[in-house]
Amino acid sequence: MKQLVTIMAALQFAGAQTAPPVLVIRAARMIDGRGGRVASPATIVIRGERIESAGADIAAPPGARLIDLGGATILPGLIDLHTHLTSTGVHWEDELLKTTPGEAALHGAYNAQVTLLAGFTTCRDMGPTWPYVDIDLRKAIDQGLVPGPRLMVAGNYVSPTGGAGDARQFSIYVDVPLVRNLADGPDEIRKAVRTNLKQGADFIKILGTGAVLSKGVPPGAQSYTEEEMRVAVEEAARWGKPVAAHLHGTAGIKAGIRAGVRTVDHGSMMDEEAVELLRTHHSYYVPTLYTSESIVGTANVPDTEKARSAEIKTAMDRSFQLVLKAGLPIGFATDAAVVPHGQNAREFASRVRLGQEPMAAIVSATKTAADILGWSDRVGTIEAGKFADVIAVAGDPLRDITQLERITFVMKGGVVYKR
Ligand SMILES: [Zn+2]
Repeated sequence: MKQLVTIMAALQFAGAQTAPPVLVIRAARMIDGRGGRVASPATIVIRGERIESAGADIAAPPGARLIDLGGATILPGLIDLHTHLTSTGVHWEDELLKTTPGEAALHGAYNAQVTLLAGFTTCRDMGPTWPYVDIDLRKAIDQGLVPGPRLMVAGNYVSPTGGAGDARQFSIYVDVPLVRNLADGPDEIRKAVRTNLKQGADFIKILGTGAVLSKGVPPGAQSYTEEEMRVAVEEAARWGKPVAAHLHGTAGIKAGIRAGVRTVDHGSMMDEEAVELLRTHHSYYVPTLYTSESIVGTANVPDTEKARSAEIKTAMDRSFQLVLKAGLPIGFATDAAVVPHGQNAREFASRVRLGQEPMAAIVSATKTAADILGWSDRVGTIEAGKFADVIAVAGDPLRDITQLERITFVMKGGVVYKR
């Protein structure tokens, strides 16, 4: 498989000099990501890295290379709006004390490939432990050096002192000298946002409340004031960039939405008023529901943090059902590495169990997620003009959503990575 990936990446470069190859994919069914009727049988015509046409009654152009997927269902490449690809798989504190940025980059390259082969062709990466390693990873993927999803990256998340992203969780005498991510008050936040965007971040991630996997303020507590969050939003907007906010507690969620954040990540403790604010302020709710199941079974998480996770699960599930009932768009995210990389699709089953229709869950991870990224011109649906990011599963995911945990085919930008 790794060899195949290398060969395909090399072909991608070689192909740039000649006329773009024409490929045709055929399969029994196609879910195009828009939530409408399933096309059956389905054909996609791909020229170079883009989709030329797709649907039920499409003729194959003469001379095109055919990929016949038989009884499979084809779907757009999936999108995960909350990953931590450069995490090395140990607890954050161990990562801070015992790993290096180089190690994180290598793990990131591996995790990016695992995630791509699991059918996720686009990810919004919500921040590395070692600042800006995610930017290096994005560049390597874009240059074709490393197989991985298209990435939108945070660079260095912005946290208040004592907040969820405060890397100095140790004795006051122990410093973590390379992580300069603390910002308190408007001036420091403005500077942190500018530094991030100058270094090449695609968006700003702020930690507006406490977190589960942290010793700082508890998840329910607001850690940035509304004013501080507004400064982040305003400064990022000057650069044309959005803010994604890690928010668990109700007061923090409301303050974040009023401040203008584009996404409420986790959104664990929503209430009716918060749902109404989402609607009126056009912020998106991006839950991570499978995390609580995953954390309980993870060996290297301290008991205090497992207890935080168990406490928050009921609220998370209830929040999801509130937003679902309100009919608002819902993003799709996993918080992988909290969930093991490559198991991102397990989030689907958690959602369906809580009442989301399988088709709606798929739309949230395709069209809606692309809208949230501002990338609906290039990914998220199988439509003419978009990147040929196409995946397949053997059966019908509308009957059994766990089919998405067993991806049989992955194409990104017209290049086959898994078959
Ligand atoms: Zn996260």
